[in-house]
Amino acid sequence: MIVGLDIGGTKIEGVGLDSVTYDTLITYRYDTDTETYEGFLSSIMSVINEVAKYGDIDSIGLGCCGSIDKNGLMQGANVIILNGKDFIGDIKQKINVPIAIANDADCLALSEFKDGAAKQAMNSCVAIIIGTGCGSGVIVHNKLVTGLNKLGGEIGHNPLPSYSSKIDGEQIDCYCGSKNCTESFVSGTGFSRTFSEKYFHANSKQIMELYAQGHTEARKHLDLYCDQLARVCANIVNFVDPEVIVLGGGMSNIDEIYPLVNAKLNKYTFTKNTVTQVLKNVYGDSSGVRGAAFLHQQG
Ligand SMILES: [Zn+2]
Repeated sequence: MIVGLDIGGTKIEGVGLDSVTYDTLITYRYDTDTETYEGFLSSIMSVINEVAKYGDIDSIGLGCCGSIDKNGLMQGANVIILNGKDFIGDIKQKINVPIAIANDADCLALSEFKDGAAKQAMNSCVAIIIGTGCGSGVIVHNKLVTGLNKLGGEIGHNPLPSYSSKIDGEQIDCYCGSKNCTESFVSGTGFSRTFSEKYFHANSKQIMELYAQGHTEARKHLDLYCDQLARVCANIVNFVDPEVIVLGGGMSNIDEIYPLVNAKLNKYTFTKNTVTQVLKNVYGDSSGVRGAAFLHQQG
C-alpha cells in the first residue's frame, strides 16, 4: 500500500491506500510531539507502525509545511524543531522505503488530480488553497511543478491582478515584504479583513450569515471577492492553462463562489471563450493526507 502522512502542529494523520485501487485501508491520528525532535520522530513512527499493520508499505509521502534545502535539511517548517534536521534521512533509518515530502497545496493538487474534482483532466490541474493563507499546487504533464527555488505555486505572494485601491481597498503590506499580495485578499483572512475595513467588523462566517439573509453589503462583498478570485484564476489560465482549477481550504466550502467565479473568469482571460472550470475539491480535509500518499504516483 501507499502511505500518506499529514503533519500538523498538533496532530499527525496517516492513511494507507491500496496501491492499485486507492481504496482507504486505514486512517489513524496521533498527537504531534513538538517538544523534542526525537519525540517528534517517535510520534511519526507511531503512525507509520500503526498503518503498517494493515499491509506492506511501498512508499511514504509526507505532507508538511516547509521544504528540503540543497543540503537535504528541512527549512521553513511550522513545526520549528524540524528546521535544520535531516528529517527524511532520519525516518529512512527507521523504515527503508521511498519517502517524499510536499506542502499542503501540492498535496491538494495531487489528491484532486488523481481521483477527485480534477480526475477527468488528462495531464494538468492547478489547486488553490484559500484558507488562513493562500498557496497553490501546479500539476503539468501529470507531475507537480516544484521548481528550481521550490517556489512553484506560490501564487499567494504575487500581487493581486489588476489591484485598484478604489475597488479592492487600501494598499496592504504583506508579512513577506511585498505589497497587495493575492493572499491579503483571497484568503479567508483577506475576505474578512477587506469587509471589516469597508463596512464593519465581521469574520467570514458572520459575513456569510448576513449574505444568506440577503444583506446588501455582504452580497456586494462576496461579489467583489469572487471578482478578485476570478482575476487570480484568469492569470493561472493565461500562464499555465490547466484543464481544471480546484479550490480547497476554508473559503472553498462556500458553494456560492463557484457560479460567480466561473461567470467572471472570461472577463479577465486573454481570449474570452475559455472553457476552464473552477471546481470545489472532493476530498476536503482528507486531501492533504491522500495527496501525500500519491507523491510517489506521479508521471
Ligand atoms: Zn506576500
